[in-house]
Amino acid sequence: MHEHCPSCDLRYEVEPGFFYGAMYISYAFTVGIMLVGGIFVFNVLNDPPAMGYVVPITIFSLIMVPFNFRTARVLFIHGFSGISYNQDSIKK
Ligand SMILES: [Zn+2]
Repeated sequence: MHEHCPSCDLRYEVEPGFFYGAMYISYAFTVGIMLVGGIFVFNVLNDPPAMGYVVPITIFSLIMVPFNFRTARVLFIHGFSGISYNQDSIKK
């Protein structure tokens, strides 16, 4: 992740440790993925033994880590940074 926005030079981490809060959003995404994955495995694989749930859900959760990491940070900076979009700050 860039330290500063390439367009407007905004510093993303507005204070030290700012993105720790994004871990809660990422956690919620992971829980959602595991719940939906569990329901999917239950229906598609017809209720396999425990490892039939653990292996595919773990693999899919690990594949989704980059998406969760970035999306959680984007949502967190939009929701809690107090920064608002300013069209005039874009470098031309
Ligand atoms: Zn920017």
